[in-house]
Amino acid sequence: MNGDYKNIMKEMSDKCIACGFCVYVCPSWNAHGQVEYFSPRARSLIVRGMLEGHVDTKEAVESIFTCNTCKRCLLECPTGVDVAEMVIYAREFINKNIKI
Ligand code: SF4
Ligand code: SF4
Repeated sequence: MNGDYKNIMKEMSDKCIACGFCVYVCPSWNAHGQVEYFSPRARSLIVRGMLEGHVDTKEAVESIFTCNTCKRCLLECPTGVDVAEMVIYAREFINKNIKI
């Protein structure tokens, strides 16, 4: 995976308009007590926040690594945010940038 992964993360997360149409279909959100942090919308906004530097990678870990990449959210998304693809790159970003 080359450095372009950040551009892909930006392209995907910038497309999110936070409408929430994706939230109710997400099995991860349902499995985690319907908590917003585990929703596709949150994942998009967290990725944007990580890139802009106001979300710490440690705060993002649980949300990003609990997406099962089923792409159910993509079917509902009016702007075509592919959260499943985005989180795969976000995992790479976290692995490279997290400070333990
Ligand atoms: S791809 Fe991830 S965020 Fe989207 S519905 Fe599936 S588990 Fe939820
Ligand atoms: S449906 Fe798409 S644009 Fe709307 S909150 Fe979900 S990821 Fe963002």
